[in-house]
Amino acid sequence: MNVNFDLVYNQPLAPLTSLRTGGYAEIFASPDTPDALGTLISSCRHTPVQVLGGGSNIIVPDGTVSGLTVSLGKMASFRQISRCTAEIGAGYPLPKLLKTLRTLNLGGLEFAVGIPGTAGGAFLGNAGAGGHGFCELVDTVTALDSSGQLITLERGQFTYGYRYCSLREMIVISMVMTFRDFEPEDAELLEFYRDKRRNQPVSSRSAGCTFKNPEGHSAGKLLDECGCKGLSIGGAKVSEQHANFIINTGNASSSDVNSLIDLCAKKVYDSTGIILEREIKTLSPCFYTR
Ligand SMILES: Cc1cc2nc3c(=O)[nH]c(=O)nc-3n(C[C@H](O)[C@H](O)[C@H](O)COP(=O)(O)OP(=O)(O)OC[C@H]3O[C@@H](n4cnc5c(N)ncnc54)[C@H](O)[C@@H]3O)c2cc1C
Repeated sequence: MNVNFDLVYNQPLAPLTSLRTGGYAEIFASPDTPDALGTLISSCRHTPVQVLGGGSNIIVPDGTVSGLTVSLGKMASFRQISRCTAEIGAGYPLPKLLKTLRTLNLGGLEFAVGIPGTAGGAFLGNAGAGGHGFCELVDTVTALDSSGQLITLERGQFTYGYRYCSLREMIVISMVMTFRDFEPEDAELLEFYRDKRRNQPVSSRSAGCTFKNPEGHSAGKLLDECGCKGLSIGGAKVSEQHANFIINTGNASSSDVNSLIDLCAKKVYDSTGIILEREIKTLSPCFYTR
């Protein structure tokens, strides 16, 4: 490959995730510009490409992850375009975005306080809380396709819902978002959402909520009622604090975590007939290069 930035072979991925499980990327790159990433993508043939954001919602498979894994960590810019509009790099950390907005006296993203990860990951999963999601504030998205071309999508060219965004088979590079002036009530909202996190094991190694809430139900409550709290397989354990969090107690493999997720889903299905859908994603190819 004739590219002008570093490729790392056999890069351990566990330290780049909040769960701290899983194996190695066969080839890993963290380009610092869209052009560099485009050059890399267009110089690979029929190669699976995985994208890693902040690694806070992901299980990395054990063993070797084939092909190329890219991190957007070096594309972490914030550029204010007008009073309430800014262009944000996909690698910009979400907690830092909340702080930046507070400094600029801008509001609108209070529901995302305490959510780890990057802006790109938050867009892809429409991360949020209390019925709100990150995509609500996104006007346009610039992304890179499997041929290494940059594409800009306007609002209306992507759809989103509960922990879902329709954008697929593209690497999100940046987005333009519109915020609003910070109002006194927003300080209360920040406190409200911070308070809701007090029953979550935020200092443990986890990938956030394991399952989405099924329509009309709380996944955590269902798991609790079905006796999942405290269940463990290998080094993976269902949090005693919040049944919808699986924590790595120290030496868990991704296989331990996946087996425990399947066991919990089975227990809930056997008791209630409800099929739980995973919220946590597995690191898998975003696309294959052409
Ligand atoms: C303690 C804790 C609390 C959490 N609380 C919440 C919560 O309240 N609400 C909530 O919604 N989530 C929550 N999460 C989950 C997680 O923080 C969010 O889903 C976050 O938005 C994921 O972003 P990330 O950058 O870490 O993405 P990653 O975990 O790195 O990736 C997630 C997915 O997005 C893809 N992806 C990431 N970046 C890009 C990109 N630039 N282009 C294309 N694909 C990309 C990855 O390939 C993967 O499929 C929590 C997690 C933890 C650990």
